[in-house]
Amino acid sequence: MLIDAHCDTALILLEENSLRTLPAAAVDFARLNQTLDVAFTAIFFNGKKQRNPERTALILADRLLRDIEENSDIVCPLLCREQLLEGDCRTKLVLSLEGAELLGCDGELLALWHRLGLRSLGLTWNYRNDLASGCYEQGGLSKAGADVIKQCNELGIIVDLAHLAPEGFWQALDICQKPPLVSHAACYRLTKHCRNLDDEQLRAIGKAGGVVGITFVDEFLSAKGKAGICHFLRHLNHCLEQAGTEAVAIGSDFDGAKMARGLESIECWANIPKILADDGFTETEIVKICGDNLYRVLWNNLPKIR
Ligand SMILES: [Zn+2]
Repeated sequence: MLIDAHCDTALILLEENSLRTLPAAAVDFARLNQTLDVAFTAIFFNGKKQRNPERTALILADRLLRDIEENSDIVCPLLCREQLLEGDCRTKLVLSLEGAELLGCDGELLALWHRLGLRSLGLTWNYRNDLASGCYEQGGLSKAGADVIKQCNELGIIVDLAHLAPEGFWQALDICQKPPLVSHAACYRLTKHCRNLDDEQLRAIGKAGGVVGITFVDEFLSAKGKAGICHFLRHLNHCLEQAGTEAVAIGSDFDGAKMARGLESIECWANIPKILADDGFTETEIVKICGDNLYRVLWNNLPKIR
């Protein structure tokens, strides 16, 4: 089972009609289906630059859901845990939102988004919203932020702590009753970037039964840029040492940022099991990192039935 915790490809639907075949993108439905069993598909855009982010998010969700329906021979939405047991050759897509400003930070709209298929929610992008502070600013959770986490736990929506400022990260971890996700990040000890997690945070995610998706984003893997596979492996190894074998996963961020060399597209993802084996990871570790750890987080968060 191969699973990726974060791709931004859906944004392309603001310009293109379908995600089925996109030769210029890092991934498309057809190539995804050749490689991954499950992929988190984020609805993302910089909400600060939009006059009405809630509206744009709904338009994007509508286009994405229609596109998934029209390509139901190769993809389908992942809505409940039982679907994880189905031997289905389609790639299951986890609809996620990157930044609660895309739903107006409105807890009352969360149940509606859940009906639309939302199964993972990033509380913030890089800036502060009404729920919490992103990592470019300081501050913790608001009362509304704490309530939204509880609602996510009840509805079966994964709480994604990627992009949060540290204060909110710790508060959210305290409140969250289900295994949390940091969908796409790397290790601060190796690259001092505010989007990366320090050792204490890595250990806490491991302790909470959560997972960190180590990303392919060039600037998170190397402060000097020009990261390659060796940088990715260093971050993966460090995360494993700090958080434990059960807590490491992969969250590429395809089509959301500049990728490291050798990790530019979904074709590179397919090589990862072999790259890990060549680096000395055991078969058990490879299976967990490439999918089983995220499978566990999905299983423990998603609703039992649709
Ligand atoms: Zn992101």
